[in-house]
Amino acid sequence: METKQFKAESKRLLDMMINSIYTHREIFLRELLSNASDAIDKIYYKALTDDSLTFDKDSYFIKVTADKENRILKIIDTGIGMTKEDLENNLGTIAKSGSLAFKSENELKDGHDIIGQFGVGFYSAFMVADEVTVISRAIGSDEAFKWESKGAEGYTIVPCEKDSIGSEIILKIKDNTEDESYDEYLEEYRLKGIIKKYSDFIRYPIKMDVTES
Ligand code: ADP
Ligand code: MG
Repeated sequence: METKQFKAESKRLLDMMINSIYTHREIFLRELLSNASDAIDKIYYKALTDDSLTFDKDSYFIKVTADKENRILKIIDTGIGMTKEDLENNLGTIAKSGSLAFKSENELKDGHDIIGQFGVGFYSAFMVADEVTVISRAIGSDEAFKWESKGAEGYTIVPCEKDSIGSEIILKIKDNTEDESYDEYLEEYRLKGIIKKYSDFIRYPIKMDVTES
């Protein structure tokens, strides 16, 4: 299996985010939830123009699950999903949103605030996870694919099984170090707090399921 390299600017942004100060780490959840919400919006808009699709609001939701024992946090959506090409194109290039360009123009100002305020995107997951897996099945496809990355060294994509349309973002939460604890990102009260804080970004119901060890 071939490991593909991220594009150069992606590596820079990834390093910047992984090394970002701890107070901003929680924004990874805002980013992943807003992506999930965007993915459901895309099905909604498709249904407006495509008569073969109906948008039944009740079957669209986001689910957050935490498994403390295995240090796994999942963000699951019933959105539009990604094809193999989408996984390659959308998750293989970091900072399409332009936050990197903004950062370099403002390098001498307070870089930390920039991280807190701007949409830094999917890769912010690496602030709290040492491995990120995305299992996705696109609308109209009966194939699913698994994208997997441990960070700057690259990513792999392989076929896999998935019963329904949508995406699962699976984070292997980092082990605690002497200086830093990441346990809070597996705690129900903390996850609920972050979700509440950023709920403006989310237009669909969020279900939560936390398994104690
Ligand atoms: P942005 O949301 O600003 O485009 P991100 O880094 O957050 O940047 O995401 C990059 C792209 O990856 C998105 O534009 C989208 O195409 C795709 N993507 C990310 N998460 C999902 C998801 N849960 N479902 C479908 N597509 C997604
Ligand atoms: Mg995004």
